[in-house]
Amino acid sequence: MILFFGTRPGKPETKKLFHSTCPYCQQKGSLTAITIKNYFHIFWIKLFKISSHTTIECSHCKRGYYENEFTEEMNTELSK
Ligand SMILES: [Zn+2]
Repeated sequence: MILFFGTRPGKPETKKLFHSTCPYCQQKGSLTAITIKNYFHIFWIKLFKISSHTTIECSHCKRGYYENEFTEEMNTELSK
């Protein structure tokens, strides 16, 4: 019997950060957080979440931020 298992990414979730300021262009409310969660699956049935990874993008200056670049403001709003 062959078992098909491994990991697969879930649907990206986006969240607008209306109260955070972009550290690069100082524009407020232009940031969007994109979260991608990876799931462990067997026979393509999602079993549990193994990791999630978030990036933030600014629609004004098009700059992207990785988790280690998030400001306190971004983290506070993300955790709400
Ligand atoms: Zn910006």
